Amino acid sequence: MGPHSLISKGVYTHFNKETMTLLQKERETLERFLPGLDAKLAELPLLVMESPGSPALQLFREHGGPGLLVPKEYGGPGANPLEVAQISRALGSRSPSLAIATNMHTCTVVAIPPCPSTAELLQGIAQHNLYLASGFADGRSGSSVLVPNMKAEPTSGGWLLSGSKKPCSLSQSMDFLTASILLPSPSGNGNQELALATIPANSPGIEVKPFTDRWVLGGSETNEVVLTGVEVPEEYISYFGNADELNSAISKAFLVFELFVSACYLGVASALVERVFAGRKGCAVDRLTLATEVEGAMAALEGSAYMIMQGYDDAAAVAKSLFVRYSVQRSIERVTAQAAELLGGMAFMCSSDVVSLYAASRALAFHPPSRTSIAPALDDYLMGQSLIMP
Ligand SMILES: Cc1cc2nc3c(=O)[nH]c(=O)nc-3n(C[C@H](O)[C@H](O)[C@H](O)COP(=O)(O)OP(=O)(O)OC[C@H]3O[C@@H](n4cnc5c(N)ncnc54)[C@H](O)[C@@H]3O)c2cc1C
Repeated sequence: MGPHSLISKGVYTHFNKETMTLLQKERETLERFLPGLDAKLAELPLLVMESPGSPALQLFREHGGPGLLVPKEYGGPGANPLEVAQISRALGSRSPSLAIATNMHTCTVVAIPPCPSTAELLQGIAQHNLYLASGFADGRSGSSVLVPNMKAEPTSGGWLLSGSKKPCSLSQSMDFLTASILLPSPSGNGNQELALATIPANSPGIEVKPFTDRWVLGGSETNEVVLTGVEVPEEYISYFGNADELNSAISKAFLVFELFVSACYLGVASALVERVFAGRKGCAVDRLTLATEVEGAMAALEGSAYMIMQGYDDAAAVAKSLFVRYSVQRSIERVTAQAAELLGGMAFMCSSDVVSLYAASRALAFHPPSRTSIAPALDDYLMGQSLIMP
């Protein structure tokens, strides 16, 4: 049920999306890069986009979304981090599942370290709108994303990979799986390096398995991807370097991930705020409180985007991006609770939109690094020690 059906049910009475200022800038940026997509998403019921088989991922592909961050030299539009943060918020406000699933692709496109096949891969993404799934988590509680558990056996000219990646979004629409592994450093210094293998999704030995019957974020194709003896040539392996230190490649990955994932979920919270404004719920002070939270959070994210665009990628930049992310996370918690209350019990009971957006907005807490897992490292960093990612 989307906003229009809610208007017809009398839940919202004053909704005129053409004139609302909230989210206008973000939707303008989305329209500039992917013309026509926002209007198509706005017509789809939220529940359809939040259920398995959602058409939103295909629409995003048809409108050129996968190429967004591909640099101009490889045939993409080369959107910058600020523009992508705005687009992520706009997408999150239409469909949390779409925003989160495509965020995994977008972050991989921007953060994958170069390897011999990178140029070909990026050109392919820009020309054919290919999707990359991002397999970092491997379903082990309390584990670090920097220490993957996948097994890698050397073969002539490459590696045989076995293991499980879960949760892994975009698992059905992916054209390529990117899977994190630990491999001996190509420099031959005897250390292990964090690496990313790029694997065609239809490779023998890849299987996609549902691992939950959850309904929240059901349109994100988040499943388990199992690899059994999957062959990967060496030229499809990208190296992040030694994961014990915050080198520039690993910093870049965290910087863009924290920015874009926060923007996606801020979009989800903003969708609830938009419904409060549309229904003229609460009083002006209540609505201003919500708008102040989400606009303030977006301004902080824009600050992170500018920091990346200025080329900062040291530990101080990563720490700042984490402070911004956890601050946005707290804002989202407050905003969604208050917005749901203002929308009222009837909307909560009669509209699956409110429950779905409210539940989806909680998932920012689960993306790495979780606040509790990194608290000791940030505590030490603030006392003058090096920042060590958990
Ligand atoms: C919608 C969604 C889509 C996702 N898509 C992808 C994807 O496409 N690719 C991908 O790689 N991952 C994906 N993830 C996975 C995500 O990035 C995390 O890896 C995963 O959610 C971690 O699971 P968990 O919270 O149960 O972790 P756990 O590590 O089991 O954490 C459980 C709890 O313990 C706490 N905790 C953990 N470690 C410590 C510690 N050292 N000290 C103190 N407390 C600690 C955590 O803060 C948390 O409260 C997705 C997650 C979600 C929610």
